[in-house]
Amino acid sequence: MMYSQFLATGGLWLSLSGTEILVDPGPGCIVQASKRKLKAEKLDAIILSHRHLDHSADVNIMVEAMTQGGLKRHGRLFAPADALEPEPVIFSYIRELIDGVETLEEGKSYSIGDISFSTPVKHIHPVETYGLVFRTAEHTFSHITDTRYFEGLSQHYGGELLIINVVFLEPHTPSDYPGMPIDHLSVPDVKCIIMELKPKVAILTHFGMSMWRAKPWEIAQRLSEKTGVRVIAARDGMKFELSKLDEG
Ligand SMILES: [Zn+2]
Repeated sequence: MMYSQFLATGGLWLSLSGTEILVDPGPGCIVQASKRKLKAEKLDAIILSHRHLDHSADVNIMVEAMTQGGLKRHGRLFAPADALEPEPVIFSYIRELIDGVETLEEGKSYSIGDISFSTPVKHIHPVETYGLVFRTAEHTFSHITDTRYFEGLSQHYGGELLIINVVFLEPHTPSDYPGMPIDHLSVPDVKCIIMELKPKVAILTHFGMSMWRAKPWEIAQRLSEKTGVRVIAARDGMKFELSKLDEG
């Protein structure tokens, strides 16, 4: 998907009671953000769930844009240790433009303005990867990023909204994808997670080609029927208002 750009790989932009946070700026983030008039200089922080290219390729340009090339020094970057050492995804001269870099660790909490977020559990993925649980004054929501399904995964997450990365339509075994990382969730995994967590709304995102061919909006509809939870397939540029969580 990243190579074809059938779907954009720009990440998630959170605007939470005046705090602006960018999660996983993949390739094209700067283009997608400017196209949608999202102002990088307003960002307070950038979070990388992990170092894979589809989640981090535009981190340097986004940090530089956040500080307007260093003129407005501010903001922080949060990333797992292996995104920072021994082969940092961020150049050292760009790293100097911001207020700080914080290392994500399992079971820790962090704050950005009035927002807090935690990284409850290390995921099963080829590089160090965390999902995120955000807490604002009014809402709690989770983002389950790249991972293989594992026993107890969902018990680390919760809240009214679940944003979940679903790459595969069906579970894959290594022989289906020789030499490819397969540590990703598929639709049956996501169905279990939604049934266990019962959020008010679940947003599916990060689709691979098998998902795209199967029409994610139809899969979301079927998952809604099976789970009783409102399931939405993300689209490029889609906006979701937390204040509308209770709307049917
Ligand atoms: Zn990944």
